[in-house]
Amino acid sequence: MHDEILDCLVIGGGAAGLTAAVYLGRYRRRAVLIDDGGSRIARIPKARNVIGFPDGIAGPELLERMRLHAGRYGTTLELGRVERLERTAGGRFEARAGSRRLEARTVLLATGATDIEPEIPGLAPALKAGVVRYCPICDGYETQGQRVAVLGRQQHGLREAVFVAGFDNRVTWLALGTRDTLPAEELERLRRAGVTVEDREPRAIRCGPRQVLVELAGGQTLEFDTLYPALGLVHACGLATALGARARPDGQLEVDEHYETTVPGLYAAGDVAVDLNQINVAAGQAAIAATAIHNRL
Ligand SMILES: Cc1cc2nc3c(=O)[nH]c(=O)nc-3n(C[C@H](O)[C@H](O)[C@H](O)COP(=O)(O)OP(=O)(O)OC[C@H]3O[C@@H](n4cnc5c(N)ncnc54)[C@H](O)[C@@H]3O)c2cc1C
Repeated sequence: MHDEILDCLVIGGGAAGLTAAVYLGRYRRRAVLIDDGGSRIARIPKARNVIGFPDGIAGPELLERMRLHAGRYGTTLELGRVERLERTAGGRFEARAGSRRLEARTVLLATGATDIEPEIPGLAPALKAGVVRYCPICDGYETQGQRVAVLGRQQHGLREAVFVAGFDNRVTWLALGTRDTLPAEELERLRRAGVTVEDREPRAIRCGPRQVLVELAGGQTLEFDTLYPALGLVHACGLATALGARARPDGQLEVDEHYETTVPGLYAAGDVAVDLNQINVAAGQAAIAATAIHNRL
């Protein structure tokens, strides 16, 4: 049995979903947000680029503040995981989350993405200590003048290495055997940026509280102040693509200028829909999507 027909079901409670909850609540829309508690924000030792926090703010604290804000205006926040999303005969959406069934006129998918992590002993404490970082757009500024390794394949790894070198770092690109798959002009970019390429497979990577040690085949060990894994993201797009929404090969959902997917009434905001993975960006997109949803109902 459905309790009621919602104006909007928000799936995901990170930067995008919680922002949408604020807007929909303040538009006095009947909205429920369901989140399973896996926001990337919870993993950030100190979030940067968040406007209003010039010294940064710990991710868990920011998330808690966002949740308090999101719950203030009437949107119901629920803990749970939406396992299925379907279209009803009447053109609405029906979602299943455990024993819960919800029917909604529109859905905002704010399910985010997950980093592909390298298998490295000591990764979690090193991330907490800031020795391993995932987002040079966020915190490249904090690495200035360091010895930095970027671990990633092909164009993705190369571009991140060049980006990180822009902060006056001594950068080594750990290319995982992919250097020779790239065209000469791309390799020339590396040379101009002063990036060293190490194409031998790391045999072991160990993280300490202050440095990262990379042991190469042949026994040589390299030492870095910071390691950026750049192995890509898995976008949580499955609920949308099962309904026929178009996505790029990497799972990033296609959206229009109002953040509506190719399925009418199904919106997407945040990391699941863009590649500038930032809290401000996710929040801004969700504000646009929530307003478009309000205006169409
Ligand atoms: C280590 C690290 C450091 C970072 N540092 C910064 C920084 O300094 N500054 C910055 O701006 N950005 C930073 N980011 C990026 C930032 O965290 C993301 O861009 C932002 O969280 C995206 O918001 P989102 O709402 O799209 O996704 P998320 O915040 O990840 O939220 C998505 C939510 O949806 C939930 N979900 C997924 N599927 C379902 C489902 N089926 N049912 C219910 N819930 C579901 C997830 O579990 C999660 O809780 C960092 C990321 C990482 C990993």
